[in-house]
Amino acid sequence: MGTPVYTFRGGTHVEEYKNTRGKKIEKLPLPEVVEIPLAQHIGVVCRPVVKAGDHVYRGQLIGEASSGLYCLVHSSVSGTVSEIKVRHNAQAQPIETVVIKSDGLQELDPGIHPHDRKLSETSPDEIVEIIRKAGISGMGGAMFPTHAKIKSSMGRVNRLIVNCAECEPFITANHRLMLERPQDIVNGAKILLRALGLTLAELAVEDNKADAINRLLEVIGKSSFIKVRVMQTKYPQGDERQLIYALTGREVPAGKLPVDVGCVVFNAETCAVIYRAFAYGLPLIERCITVDGDCIAEPKNLLVPLGASYRSLIECCGGLVKKPYKIINGGPMMGAARWEIDAPVTKGTSAVLVFSEDFAKQSDYSACIRCGRCVKNCPMHLMPVYLAQYAMARRYDDAEKMGVMSCVECGTCSYNCPGNVQIVQYIRVAKGAIKARRS
Ligand code: SF4
Ligand code: SF4
Repeated sequence: MGTPVYTFRGGTHVEEYKNTRGKKIEKLPLPEVVEIPLAQHIGVVCRPVVKAGDHVYRGQLIGEASSGLYCLVHSSVSGTVSEIKVRHNAQAQPIETVVIKSDGLQELDPGIHPHDRKLSETSPDEIVEIIRKAGISGMGGAMFPTHAKIKSSMGRVNRLIVNCAECEPFITANHRLMLERPQDIVNGAKILLRALGLTLAELAVEDNKADAINRLLEVIGKSSFIKVRVMQTKYPQGDERQLIYALTGREVPAGKLPVDVGCVVFNAETCAVIYRAFAYGLPLIERCITVDGDCIAEPKNLLVPLGASYRSLIECCGGLVKKPYKIINGGPMMGAARWEIDAPVTKGTSAVLVFSEDFAKQSDYSACIRCGRCVKNCPMHLMPVYLAQYAMARRYDDAEKMGVMSCVECGTCSYNCPGNVQIVQYIRVAKGAIKARRS
């Protein structure tokens, strides 16, 4: 492509399994029922503003909070609220969830309308308010409320990066979005530039997506405000700390945030939904999801109303061809295992992967052979082998001194370990124990 290729230190090459990269985004048939949790973001849980028996429109507000870190919640279908129940999320926390029976009409909330002024006539604070009202949170998996991220970055950043890396195996939803709706991503980036008072947004795309890079370049044309940065295909290139280092040479210190080094990173689909909020007034009520894994009959990319069950996605992909052993929300490296097939899709669900025992089961036997590979590949420059050993011995103070809290849980160490040591699992235990002690 003749363009510089950016990268970071450490990391690894993982088997890509991008089986769905050629699969156009299909609309999931409208589910009869959706179950919408009132916390699909980092922060306080919203309270319901509807009750059983109420009629709701598509896009109508159903959950809100007025203080703290929060993200508003809207209905993804028109229909009737059948109940408000408690459901456990991927972290096993009980969350109030609004159950809505669809009426099949998908009538849009009459209060939804496009923003009535041009971007150049809209102030940064007004943009933040549009995004807050649309209930947008980070869609790459972090689920941080977007309005709060923009607000805390105003006047503090000089680099805006759009994360189009999609480095996790299997997931191709962002890749398809770049091919099919590149203008939404680019327009979202322009809105963010206006909100942050910057003049350049850098779209970071791995070099295994040449077709997407070309589509973005076509849409960008001669604009000097948006540039595509071609990143080396390497895991975890999509981790925002690695992106920032690769593009700016700045390292985010342990315990600090990208904003502390003058950078802010937004996911590609987050940019697209920001544009739709601005252009059409649409809240975040649907998202693109890759459905794959060796148990899935016909892997696909789907456009899914939030609250649809994993089961409905799997049925749309022809059902299961093998007995499922593991269901993962997100990618196989950093995603979370779910124990129920009727779990609902949320704002942070980038993929639903279903694997058989043959594919996913790891050997029960593990032993460190002191090869040092985990140390060599750790993108955070940690000593994973020692962190795991301290965690096993419950020496959490020692693990903390060795920087365990800086681990981004990318799984690179476990992926490469010839001794089959579940390093990242031990690290998670240590981090959980340290966090519990602090609270
Ligand atoms: S990669 Fe595995 S076997 Fe090698 S040093 Fe690390 S923990 Fe030990
Ligand atoms: S120690 Fe943490 S950051 Fe380093 S490779 Fe392992 S999971 Fe990734």
